Amino acid sequence: VKKIAVLTSGGDSQGMNAALRAVVRSGLYHGLEVYGIQRGYQGLLNNEINKMDLRSVGDIIQRGGTVLQSARCPEFMKLEGQQRGAEILNQHGIDGLVVIGGDGSYQGANKLSKLGIKTMGLPGTIDNDISFTDYTIGFDTAVGVVVDAVNKLRDTMSSHARSSIVEVMGRHCGDIALHAGLASGAETILVPEVPYDMGEIADRMKENFEKGKRHSIVIVAEGVGRGEDVAHALKERHASIDARVTVLGHIQRGGAPTPFDRNLASRLGDFAVRSLIQGESDKGCGIINGELVLTDIDKVVNTKKDFDMDMYELALRLSQ
Ligand code: ATP
Repeated sequence: VKKIAVLTSGGDSQGMNAALRAVVRSGLYHGLEVYGIQRGYQGLLNNEINKMDLRSVGDIIQRGGTVLQSARCPEFMKLEGQQRGAEILNQHGIDGLVVIGGDGSYQGANKLSKLGIKTMGLPGTIDNDISFTDYTIGFDTAVGVVVDAVNKLRDTMSSHARSSIVEVMGRHCGDIALHAGLASGAETILVPEVPYDMGEIADRMKENFEKGKRHSIVIVAEGVGRGEDVAHALKERHASIDARVTVLGHIQRGGAPTPFDRNLASRLGDFAVRSLIQGESDKGCGIINGELVLTDIDKVVNTKKDFDMDMYELALRLSQ
């Protein structure tokens, strides 16, 4: 490859900018021309493509969001859109593309690779729902946001001996709930991967309060249901459970990326560029046990991420 492009797509995440910076600077370091595509696949179809230099990615390593902006692009789901995208890249002489995004964005990259463009996927999503990588870019920061919020809730809850229900992101993957739950000492963690019995949970909360527990935190991944519904179900079982609900929403996507996310993004961004130079294509980049790994995108998008049951059980054991 001689000319590569990079885009950010789907939901934004903290650390996308750090990944972009790494792709641009590593590409330039290796003598490539590097182009930035605005607004994901939509920007590609609109020909919003600009040449990047070292300075175009200055002062962004610490910023959340994505300076390239992101978008959803229904047109790109169709073969016609994909063919037009490949054509536009060909017109610019761009033969490699790094896509920073989630599962859907990976599938777009997979389609482009079948049309002759060499592609690499970087896992940019707070949900940690991409297989063949221990962590996605943005996950660590999002977990930090949740833990910080729970710290604040604890102050007010202990003063009133109340329960707090915190609804966090994660439609299919409970990793934010799990990691934030263990780190914040949550008593109950509800995730899509593990079935639960609301009656048992309510009984346990009541017992713990009777034993002198001053606060209790329930973390609910949005894929399980709404925090309000959980509060209602608990109160139905035991009227004494007075739970307040906090929905963290998009706050979880904001803020400066943690050092962990910046370093992950920097390593993966550079790895994607080096892999393209070595002739690799249609691969997702990840990190497993500290090692950088490439996996076929097909395999990445068709494999469900493992849920860490040991960690889940530990969180419950420690929260008595
Ligand atoms: P997040 O995990 O944050 O939702 P995502 O990358 O999974 O991010 P999607 O909205 O699923 O977000 O996908 C982003 C874009 O990728 C879509 O708007 C579309 O342009 C493209 N895309 C998604 N699925 C496909 C597909 N099967 N084929 C081609 N392009 C796709």
